[in-house]
Amino acid sequence: MSIGRTRAVSLVGLDGAVVEVEADLGAGLPAFMIIGLPDASLGEARDRVRAAASNAGCALPARKLTVNLSPASLPKHGSSFDLAIAMASLAAYDLVSPSSVEGVVHIGELGLDGRLRPVDGVLPAVLAARRAGAGVVMVPTDNADEASLVPGIRVVAAAGLRDAAVWHGAALTLDPVEPIMRPRPAPRDDGGADLADVIGNADAVEALVVAAAGGHHLLMVGPPGAGKSMLAARLPGLLPDLDVDAALEVSSVRSLSGEAVGGRLETRPPFEAPHHTCSAAALVGGGSGVLRPGAASRASRGVLFLDEAPEFAQTVLDCLRQPLESGEAVIHRSRAVARFPARFQLVAAANPCPCGQYGARDGDCTCSPHQRRRYLAKLSGPLVDRIDIQLRVARISSAQFRLAESSEVLTTSAARARVEEARRRAGARLAGTPWRLSAEVPGTWLRSSERRLAVTDTVPVDRALETGALTMRGYDRVLRVAWTLADLDGVDRPERSHVARALGLRRSL
Ligand SMILES: [Zn+2]
Repeated sequence: MSIGRTRAVSLVGLDGAVVEVEADLGAGLPAFMIIGLPDASLGEARDRVRAAASNAGCALPARKLTVNLSPASLPKHGSSFDLAIAMASLAAYDLVSPSSVEGVVHIGELGLDGRLRPVDGVLPAVLAARRAGAGVVMVPTDNADEASLVPGIRVVAAAGLRDAAVWHGAALTLDPVEPIMRPRPAPRDDGGADLADVIGNADAVEALVVAAAGGHHLLMVGPPGAGKSMLAARLPGLLPDLDVDAALEVSSVRSLSGEAVGGRLETRPPFEAPHHTCSAAALVGGGSGVLRPGAASRASRGVLFLDEAPEFAQTVLDCLRQPLESGEAVIHRSRAVARFPARFQLVAAANPCPCGQYGARDGDCTCSPHQRRRYLAKLSGPLVDRIDIQLRVARISSAQFRLAESSEVLTTSAARARVEEARRRAGARLAGTPWRLSAEVPGTWLRSSERRLAVTDTVPVDRALETGALTMRGYDRVLRVAWTLADLDGVDRPERSHVARALGLRRSL
């Protein structure tokens, strides 16, 4: 045999494609070439593979070896092709069984000592391999748990190149090496963050439940110390568990971000709170070399919290426009377009003015009216346009605190049960449409004849529209929230009281 063949996976964003790896042993001076659009890091695979093979005790003889990765048009990045290149090469020399190598998808980076290093993105890569019909995948030992999360494909763990070669029938004795392992992530700790901790601010708690039930984006404006961050951090707890597809997506994004996923799918919605000094790439993804997902993608299927939202650079905030519209972060590169999921629920928090004290009971605002206007105006346009619920949050007084302490509090588990019931109602109503939550429904659908509300019920919004207090888009957002309020109350369609309350959640600024 002078040609060895196997397969690897190329990831662009979260999309994986199976790549054919062929190694051809030709006549000519000793050389080792890799062709088929390798990037710089992949080009270095040559040196890693040669050193690893010789240190693993299966050195590549000095002949002319050409490795081709196809299709050539597909971009290929990173070091995860090392194992496939090494196995195809060994198969070309007949040092391992060519048919065994051909039947397996190989993923892994080689160290110079011949051991396999874990790679990022194994979960989406193995998902892609299974979709392409692969039956067996070989991965570094550290990645084996993660690869095993994909049902319907056999996972073979290898600690080093020698293990891998022996598995493929090399005439070598096993020489166990210590596998390279990354530290396991600590289980996420959102325990202890219960809605019941929020004392007073009953309106804000109710708004949070409405936001969770309908999937509505939320803006909170209030002075420092009003509990905006505390409220935002409790929103993921109100959301239902992730279904299998969502859980695979959340864990895949983690894996691509370089976090060890381990052997357990994440079933709770994520929470991401990027700092206001973060770059556009940190927010929506990018970076040089291998593209990494940003906070907006790590928050997909969960909550993206922008604290002190007006402090973010305008150009960074503008990057959220596309994810908010399409649920995807799309990054254009010279040879490729990478897509990451970005279906997050946005929670933005803002001080009422640059000094933060405007309108506070006990504070003294030192800002001019012009400064105040300009401050919140930074959020206008694409961002505020998509936020259904806009809420003013106040610092509570000690008298209110004492009063609230003695009254009944809503716990996270009780609130989640209400949210789940409301979502079931919305899901039943929206069955047969592409939408599942009120927040996703377009205005034209809401205003269509079957769903149009009685004129007597829409009096509050109609009046606001006539006086110019509400735009047409704002009108639709009020209707969406009104439907969610009706779902929470267990009634079939919104009544006048729901419309009035929805208007209140819109105009509290
Ligand atoms: Zn101020």
